[in-house]
Amino acid sequence: MLEQQQNDLTPISKLGEFGLIKHLTEKFSFKNSSTEISIGDDAAVINPEGKKVVISTDTLAEGVHFNLGYVPLKHLGYKSVVVNLSDIAAMNAVPTQILVSVAVSNRFPVEALEEIYYGISLACEKYKVDLVGGDTTSSQTGLVLTITAIGLENSENIVTRKGAKANDLLVVTGDLGGAYLGLQILEREHSVFLADPNMQPEMEGYDYILERQLKPEARTDIKQILSDLDIKPTSMIDVSDGLASEVLHLSEQSKVGFHVYENKLPLDSVALSTADELNLNPTMCALNGGEDYELLFTISPTDFEKIRNNPDFSIIGHAVDLEQGNFLIASGSNELVALTAQGWKAF
Ligand code: ADP
Ligand code: MG
Repeated sequence: MLEQQQNDLTPISKLGEFGLIKHLTEKFSFKNSSTEISIGDDAAVINPEGKKVVISTDTLAEGVHFNLGYVPLKHLGYKSVVVNLSDIAAMNAVPTQILVSVAVSNRFPVEALEEIYYGISLACEKYKVDLVGGDTTSSQTGLVLTITAIGLENSENIVTRKGAKANDLLVVTGDLGGAYLGLQILEREHSVFLADPNMQPEMEGYDYILERQLKPEARTDIKQILSDLDIKPTSMIDVSDGLASEVLHLSEQSKVGFHVYENKLPLDSVALSTADELNLNPTMCALNGGEDYELLFTISPTDFEKIRNNPDFSIIGHAVDLEQGNFLIASGSNELVALTAQGWKAF
């Protein structure tokens, strides 16, 4: 960063912790009647209005989950909310409130936090959720963002990972592998830049997958679409770690196996051409890439007609007895390949 710009930035110490919290949160307005008391008291008060309360939390740590070398702070704020709302959507619940905890070192000026909170506010607007609290603390190392999302839902609508039965159809929303391929492009261009800061990054034509990585969306829209089709999934999960990992989670919780058809996996054309360019197997990107934040769910086979030609959904396989295991049926050869997943490689 240029020295000139550095001098124009405001150190956090100038506002102090309380001033900072006020400064960052005063523009947030409230959209949900269930929000009774929010920022400014010792704790928030939420009125569940007779519904079940669904809660989830996720932490994003600098250097582990994101690299500020190529992730804009605004996008980081937006995405940190989205990944949490995705978990609420995966329970078939409506997200209503979030809490945001930040740990920052003094190398971050107030303006950096403003950017993060701007991204957070955009997500709150788009998804109609209220920021009702959080925590602010200093960090010795880097930036850590922890978001807790709260959702409310009638008991009978909640969908868990448990509940898939043999012969149920396995369905996924949207397309897969794009976020991972977007990350590969960002990392490639970032290393080019580090080697020679005068080089302009080549990002043209990759818009779709870059957006999938930097500005993913939570599929909070799916709940209504399914309800309009008169479908209640028998089990559901969001695709955060990669399809293979999520299929195995549904398998474990529901005590069934799954057969997934490689030729049914939804892949976007930009994802396909980028995989080809980078010499990556697109199926592996879909299975193990992660961060797509689509929803993976099972439905009763009797719901097949309701969903078969719907562009929002791809039927990618079906549940089998647990003893039959979890397999990918390879395109062409019909060979059965065991599904495996290491999970998120943070450790
Ligand atoms: P306490 O000392 O009781 O933890 P704080 O001073 O941390 O209280 O927080 C004061 C209020 O500001 C609380 O309502 C808290 O939820 C909210 N708050 C603190 N930090 C943040 C933040 N980073 N984002 C949003 N709200 C925050
Ligand atoms: Mg506190």
